[in-house]
Amino acid sequence: MRVSVFGATGSIGESTFDLLRRRDDLTTVALTGGRNIARLAEQARALRAELAVTAHEDCYGDLKDALAGSGVGVAAGTDALIAAAERPADWVMSAIVGAAGLTPGFRALAQGATLALANKESLVTAGPLLMREAARHSARILPVDSEHSAVFQALVGEDMAAVERVIITASGGPFRDWTKDQLAQATLAQAQKHPNWDMGQRITIDSATLFNKALELIETREYFGLEPAQIEAVVHPQSIIHALVGFRDGALMAHMGAPDMRHAIGYALNWPDRAELPVARLDLAQLGQLTFEAPDPDRFPALRLAREVMEMRGHAGAAFNAAKEVALDQFIAGRIGFLDMAALVERTIDSLLSDSGLTSPVESLESVMAMDQMAREVAGHHAAAMA
Ligand code: NDP
Repeated sequence: MRVSVFGATGSIGESTFDLLRRRDDLTTVALTGGRNIARLAEQARALRAELAVTAHEDCYGDLKDALAGSGVGVAAGTDALIAAAERPADWVMSAIVGAAGLTPGFRALAQGATLALANKESLVTAGPLLMREAARHSARILPVDSEHSAVFQALVGEDMAAVERVIITASGGPFRDWTKDQLAQATLAQAQKHPNWDMGQRITIDSATLFNKALELIETREYFGLEPAQIEAVVHPQSIIHALVGFRDGALMAHMGAPDMRHAIGYALNWPDRAELPVARLDLAQLGQLTFEAPDPDRFPALRLAREVMEMRGHAGAAFNAAKEVALDQFIAGRIGFLDMAALVERTIDSLLSDSGLTSPVESLESVMAMDQMAREVAGHHAAAMA
């Protein structure tokens, strides 16, 4: 099997690398990264990749030097990233963070590859388009987000017509018990410490605001074709149950596992088979208890905003994601507070409501990118006023 990894140097990319390096039956086509050139070169040498690509043209020289004499091809820049996605491969991991992951995923589908989709922004911003692209090329998308992999696994052998609802779980993040006053003072250092999962900085902060769960609600709708009212989120601080599927006979099928992304990645890599994976086995007696609570919409407005976005449909997902990315950048830069992130997203969506493009159906990647750009500009103006 020929495999490529987009976002190889990130958290998902490293977990994917860990699984790939244990296999001797795979050919690595392309590995891509951003600024972590030393690690990209190390991975490319270890997997004897045909090609290593950095998204940044100014990093080309460093990557070329780091791979001198290795036989690995080197390229840089956005066009090179897209060309890498067009290289024939059977299985492509989409693990670039943010809307930047969208186009490479499309190109991988267009050449018929199975797309292991970690980049949740792809479905949030362009879900109907992505699913259509997969169908057009008889390509498959396999979910890698742990909740969606869990739902996918719980649905094996089931009829979608019998599905009543899907429940995805949220750890609640590091601030689950914090008051609103405390949240207003939350720092970057506190927000980037997840209680259960070891993930990239951006998704970790998104978990603290529950924006990560908000994106996942939208992702669930797009991937499984459910109505918003059929999708629920529940806070489950232990992160052992990742999702549950409720059927019309009242049965709930839960998917459980240690919080380790190598499970969902490995499931997508080995699908439709199950292969041995180097993940911890659960000791239920030692765990003792699993608890659940309703998310608090007042302290964490992200889920409410996601529901509004799901009702709006069209380009609202693209605007929501772009505004969220701007809000996150502003928080990381220390320009706005923790609670300001949700306020900024809400203001951006409100401002864009008068623009008819927000709710018009998603027809092309260009219109998604245009909405992404517009929302970033509007969010930028609001952010400047808030800072
Ligand atoms: P990281 O920030 O750890 O890694 C992101 C990767 O993308 C890195 O390889 C980075 O390169 C690269 N990258 C960053 N910006 C760009 C860009 N503009 N163009 C091209 N490449 C870029 O992210 P995660 O691994 O945590 O997350 C990746 C995706 O998977 C996200 O969409 C996230 O929501 C999703 N996801 C992550 C989970 C997790 O456990 N981490 C769980 C479920 C979903 P470099 O570092 O070299 O600069």
